[in-house]
Amino acid sequence: MNSTTAPAATARKSGTVPTGTMKAVVKAKAGPGIEIREVPVPGAGPGQLLLKVLRAGICGTDLHIYEWDAWSQNRIKPPVVIGHEFVGEIVALGAGVTELKVGERVSFESHIVCGHCTACRTGNGHVCENTRIIGVDVDGGFAEYAVAPAANAWRAPANVPLEVQAVMEPLGNAVHTAFAGDLSACRIAVTGCGPIGLFAIGVARAAGACQVIASDVAPYRLEAALRMKADAVIDVSKEDFVARVKELTEGRGLDGVLEMSGNAKAIRDGLAALRNGGRLSLLGLPREPFGLDWNGLLVFKGVTIQGIAGRRMYQTWYQMDSLLRTGRLDVRPAITHVMPMEKVAEGMELLRSGNAGKIALIPWGQSA
Ligand code: NAD
Ligand code: ZN
Repeated sequence: MNSTTAPAATARKSGTVPTGTMKAVVKAKAGPGIEIREVPVPGAGPGQLLLKVLRAGICGTDLHIYEWDAWSQNRIKPPVVIGHEFVGEIVALGAGVTELKVGERVSFESHIVCGHCTACRTGNGHVCENTRIIGVDVDGGFAEYAVAPAANAWRAPANVPLEVQAVMEPLGNAVHTAFAGDLSACRIAVTGCGPIGLFAIGVARAAGACQVIASDVAPYRLEAALRMKADAVIDVSKEDFVARVKELTEGRGLDGVLEMSGNAKAIRDGLAALRNGGRLSLLGLPREPFGLDWNGLLVFKGVTIQGIAGRRMYQTWYQMDSLLRTGRLDVRPAITHVMPMEKVAEGMELLRSGNAGKIALIPWGQSA
């Protein structure tokens, strides 16, 4: 496996530490597909935790790895256990881990950062120049057990269900994007209602936006947006986004756009629907470069465009944690399916169809 893990023997043992083999979802070879394999249970090396995985979430990135798109071909070095959204119970501590205990339930920041590049040393670890991603560059959490750096662990809020604890990483993308500008008393649009867009609707509302408008082209996802309590939804396959936003905002336009689709038209229309001086926070990843009317849509409007990568470490996690612990934010309607990890390929197909929000996975031997 493609891991940074040490043999199980180096783990500081507390209670029963599993040994032998386990089931895992493995990107086994260069090419489409994934395999469920029996692999050795990893051991916690220095600074690492060994976890029993309790729930995991399927991300669009997992789908890219499954499909073996151009990005995956350049990045992934099979074999690797995939999965970077998960929550687990700590079963062993590696050497030097003192701040966490066996039995605690933790969720994870997926970016392993270097701590010594300019970004890291200036408080911008979310754009570390040497980022390695759990479940992409090192073995991840679609397995019965996983190891991860203790420094990346986050004590999961006990008042939210396991499925929510498992998806704090993508929820953090939504929190980071939303909190990149003003929200309170603002009129906000979320363009693209995939899992992260759905989360962003909830975050914007919880943080005091006074109007949240959501757009997509998929009926299933527009309905999910309403369940996340969007004030209005726009089906951009049928309606003009800019004209409809004008109507909904009494001609004023938007204070902010949280771009979650990566679609060029959504980005252009988002800029056009902003009031002068508004902000466009871009999480969505366009598949290809494209042109913009820079003067009309950006310069003369005095708009701010922000690129959003990952989650601020760990400011975003504190913000998200507070919203969840106080019950201000409820993202359960965005988690539309919970299925056995054994059926992960089915989950990938479902996600690809657009007829799902976030899909959570239950590892082997556990029940809902
Ligand atoms: P997703 O692909 O599930 O959702 C995108 C949604 O946009 C889909 O529902 C799609 O129907 C919709 N869409 C397509 N065209 C549209 C249009 N013209 N207007 C409005 N909506 C439109 O993606 P996701 O998993 O929710 O992630 C959201 C985006 O964020 C993706 O582009 C993803 O690649 C990106 N992402 C970025 C980071 C980062 O660190 N920057 C991290 C995770 C994901
Ligand atoms: Zn760094």
